[in-house]
Amino acid sequence: MPSGIVPSWIVMAASMWMGGPTLGAMQTATLIEARQRLGRDAFVVESPPCPTQARWCFELALHVVEEDGADVQTPQWVADQVREANRLFAPIDVGFRVGSAKVVDARFASVETRLDRDLLGRDEHSLGVVHVFVVRRLADVDVPGEVIRGVHWRDRVQTSRRWVILSSIASSLVLAHELGHFFGLPHSKHRKSLMNKSPHLDPPWHLRTFPEEELAIMRRRRDAMVEDGTLVKANVNAKPAAPPTLPVTPVDPRSPADAAPG
Ligand SMILES: [Zn+2]
Repeated sequence: MPSGIVPSWIVMAASMWMGGPTLGAMQTATLIEARQRLGRDAFVVESPPCPTQARWCFELALHVVEEDGADVQTPQWVADQVREANRLFAPIDVGFRVGSAKVVDARFASVETRLDRDLLGRDEHSLGVVHVFVVRRLADVDVPGEVIRGVHWRDRVQTSRRWVILSSIASSLVLAHELGHFFGLPHSKHRKSLMNKSPHLDPPWHLRTFPEEELAIMRRRRDAMVEDGTLVKANVNAKPAAPPTLPVTPVDPRSPADAAPG
């Protein structure tokens, strides 16, 4: 049990012993707070570490919207996204791990406008890590009424500030696709590319990768981003937790139209 967590039997015993409703309420508040802290840590602890063979390990600074007392997605969902990103970035010796996880206010649960996307990350942005925001709904700002599954977004006030936004409906490959944008890739016409958004099933999404010429772009951008401080190499062995024990969720078999990243 992590330090700081108050077992419920202690709270119950203390409430019974003290008798007063005031202390009981305080203890309950403490317990809820402790649970929320554990919930936040779960996004870090349950996500996979950087693969040991990754020469470049980069941290994801995770921000998850909490709405009505619940996160809009689960630690396991995030873990699946990171696992797929690590698999697909292995050819350029890059791995990712969740280094921190913060709460995002419920007013950002539904990101509707370009200004929402700007404001979501503007005050949280910092260099050295990739900031990843998880929201419940991410509107397509180009097509009214439509939604997208993810986006690599540049703050319009200062375009060097950029981050990834994932919708809670995203399949497990969307983080890797958006990180492809973060590493300099546009959308692609290669049939087998993860960056190809055109509707085709051959190959299916779970067999998409980054073709060699895209890997070459990503390697160059990786080196440039380390050089200019956009990304800072993290210690592969600094993962504060044991390897995750969560089962791997199968890749989303839905049609490209359903599963297409943003
Ligand atoms: Zn895209």
